[in-house]
Amino acid sequence: MADGCVFCDIVAGKFGTTFLYEDDALVAFADLRPVAPSHLLVVPRAHFADLPAVAAAPGGTALIGRLGAAAAKLGAQESKGAGFRVVVNTGAEAGQTVFHVHLHVLSGRRFSWPPG
Ligand code: AMP
Ligand code: ZN
Repeated sequence: MADGCVFCDIVAGKFGTTFLYEDDALVAFADLRPVAPSHLLVVPRAHFADLPAVAAAPGGTALIGRLGAAAAKLGAQESKGAGFRVVVNTGAEAGQTVFHVHLHVLSGRRFSWPPG
């Protein structure tokens, strides 16, 4: 747990956030400022600043697999087969604002490419 990390606080239940999915390694909850009709965040319980930090940690690749599998399941459920997008912003230049790694799972509208 990292002091002052909003996602560590959410994982610890400080705000009473509803978890749409949870297991021993991760939680999923709705984004506060959704940019799609369904916008979920998949977040490991353990604090890692970003994707490279998870990848470098012992057991990190297995955790990335767990996060990806949860995103796949939630995306399929939420989109009802209509397609979804998984995004991991990494670094401020790429749009990361919360430095506790998370996967955005977006669905419910058409997405353009390239992203902004
Ligand atoms: P990123 O910009 O990729 O780091 O994504 C951070 C996301 O966290 C943004 O989409 C925010 O809307 C979302 N967010 C920030 N604080 C909260 C919170 N307390 N509960 C839910 N989502 C949050
Ligand atoms: Zn954290």
